[in-house]
Amino acid sequence: MELKEILSKSILVPSKLPDSDFVINPYTGCSFGCSYCYASFMSRYVEKEIDDWGNFVFVKKNAPELLQKDLKRFKNFGEGKIILFSSVTDPYQGVENKYQLTRKCLEVLLDFGFLGEVSILTKSSLIIRDIDLFAKFKHISVGLTITSVDDEISKFFEKFAPKVSERFLALEKLNSAEIDTYAFFGPILPHFASSPEKMEEVFMRLSKVGTKKLYIEHINLSNYIRNRLFAETNFSQEILKTFYESKTKNYRSKIDKFLVDLVKKYDMKILGGGKAIYHKDFNN
Ligand code: SF4
Repeated sequence: MELKEILSKSILVPSKLPDSDFVINPYTGCSFGCSYCYASFMSRYVEKEIDDWGNFVFVKKNAPELLQKDLKRFKNFGEGKIILFSSVTDPYQGVENKYQLTRKCLEVLLDFGFLGEVSILTKSSLIIRDIDLFAKFKHISVGLTITSVDDEISKFFEKFAPKVSERFLALEKLNSAEIDTYAFFGPILPHFASSPEKMEEVFMRLSKVGTKKLYIEHINLSNYIRNRLFAETNFSQEILKTFYESKTKNYRSKIDKFLVDLVKKYDMKILGGGKAIYHKDFNN
């Protein structure tokens, strides 16, 4: 994997994503290399190909200093604003062990006295390293992406990310430390349409570790994502068919019905407007 230290021009970037006003991405690229990753389009910004995604990480060495400067633009110490770590990288991927840029940026926010909300999303159990900092924030929520309960499945689609069992453990530890947590259940993999009991296992495990809030996202099969996903996974025709079916209304209604029932049964709350996120244009 290519690892390069760079000086970035910006770090606190306005966001169009729901539930966030700004995003902080301390790294460009992501060593977890998930085969369905929508952020692979970032490759183009650093003169890489989409297929290179997962093979490079650029480290924004000056991220904490930049953030210190950027925060000056906030009035009222950012009250009412939401900052998300991260939208197009994983803030706790392996290099964070060494560079600690996410941790340093969180320290900058604390030193500044940030009064808004911090939201963190990762697939990494390294996140528990920073529980001491999370406890000092007024408003913070920490999310782990969960795509199944099965380590084999997580290893298949999220090759270099920590196994999903480690993510459940991380959620459990965060909840024990009384940190507000959520799960990002997505992308919903198409096999759930024919096995609602597998989907229920996700809710059961979340409930068991004490996480009651979740974002839900249907799979995004835009051209650039689909091409990389299908090239990397080499699915059989039968599995490919299930992926293509995931764009149909019938599939979506079926999944949404399971979800509504499960959210009710396990007394959970769907974040992001109370509905699953849906990417409507299959052909983009
Ligand atoms: S962890 Fe997130 S950003 Fe990293 S490759 Fe996976 S989906 Fe993409």
